[in-house]
Amino acid sequence: MNAAIIAVGSEMLTHTRVDTNSLFLTERLNLLGVEVVQKVVVGDQREKLEAAIRYCLEHSELLILTGGLGPTEDDLTREAVGTATGREVLFDQGICDALIARFASFGRKMAEINKRQAYVIDGAEVMPNPNGTAPGQWLSLASKQIVVLLPGPPGEMKPMAEKEFLPRLQKMLPPLALSTATFHLTGMGESDVDALVAPIYKQYANPVTTILAKAGDITLHLRSQTKSQEESDALVAELGSKIEAVLGQWIYSRDGSPLETAVLRLLVERGQTVAVAESLTGGMLGARLSGVAGASKAFVGGFITYNNGQKQGLLGVDPWVLAEQTEVSEPVAQQMAAAAREKSNAHWALSLTGYAGPDGGTEENPVGTVYIGIAGPDGYLKAQRFRYPAGDRDRVRQFAVQSALNMLRLALS
Ligand code: ATP
Ligand code: MG
Repeated sequence: MNAAIIAVGSEMLTHTRVDTNSLFLTERLNLLGVEVVQKVVVGDQREKLEAAIRYCLEHSELLILTGGLGPTEDDLTREAVGTATGREVLFDQGICDALIARFASFGRKMAEINKRQAYVIDGAEVMPNPNGTAPGQWLSLASKQIVVLLPGPPGEMKPMAEKEFLPRLQKMLPPLALSTATFHLTGMGESDVDALVAPIYKQYANPVTTILAKAGDITLHLRSQTKSQEESDALVAELGSKIEAVLGQWIYSRDGSPLETAVLRLLVERGQTVAVAESLTGGMLGARLSGVAGASKAFVGGFITYNNGQKQGLLGVDPWVLAEQTEVSEPVAQQMAAAAREKSNAHWALSLTGYAGPDGGTEENPVGTVYIGIAGPDGYLKAQRFRYPAGDRDRVRQFAVQSALNMLRLALS
């Protein structure tokens, strides 16, 4: 089943409000095997709302509207759905009496204007709203399509969806068993990942595959729904193993745990430790590592050497090398890593030096250039140059931390 969601309300078109209702509904619908194929946000304008309803009903079997069920003139959802579906909107004395009773229970008299909320689209079933005044409505059309009206305030919409709307919907749908798999990977661009795996996952309509990317980190999600758990699990396992065969070494986690957890786990398995020497990231790498519960088993600490004085003073980086090669260079990254390892007595050390921007950089090493050093047992020492997209200082730093963690992960694997 395909669904469309319309968020109604002029306030939802301002920069201060976000349509979170549709996110909640999408998650719940997906769990029932319903795909959301359209989302629209419309202001309190009747023609525009009617047009949006007609448009969505051309493409979707299920249409959900949230908002616009209030008592005021600008709450138009009932009327617009009525017009767009060719149905009348009728006064319901039962709802009106319930509203009067609700106000009376607070010691108040219902305002005349609230009578607007007692109107029901001809043929619709009413869904009670214990948390507000606007009841919801469930309308089955002759076309077998369903239109659902839910209140806008999330505190009213969510309980009504859970108690009234979703159970009704579930009764109409074949039961589905869900199976999922998640792969986290790093060290590759999103488009490179997609180029590798798209030919594989495109052969499967089920499981559905989604790829999500943030600075230096990619999540691949597989979701399968069939009538039986065995079948869903088997489909996810089948596609999952094909994806693992191509992405193998880039995958650092299958259980949702972050990269630093994977790195610390590898260190603990080997009974080894790591220290850090950070320039442009100013402690971000240490923060990531120390953010993992139990990190002290493998993370010893490190050095924040932001300026050259600290690089010389704390780590003993050669002033000649700093002067000749600049602080953003391969030999400086190597010296930082080697010194951090030696001074902290750790098995491994990672170092970062680079230009986070927005200013600085050289012709040879523009903003976004980072050298990452790694020192390890048996004289293992190297540094790698990375170039990240410039412009967003924090993104460059996040990318750099991710790359550093991945260098150690690869060295350990
Ligand atoms: P009311 O009786 O409160 O007027 P309503 O059903 O008419 O209820 P709206 O007026 O559209 O609902 O919305 C009331 C408030 O609910 C909005 O100001 C907003 O804070 C919240 N809201 C509405 N729609 C959404 C949405 N799609 N996502 C998140 N919040 C929403
Ligand atoms: Mg309103």
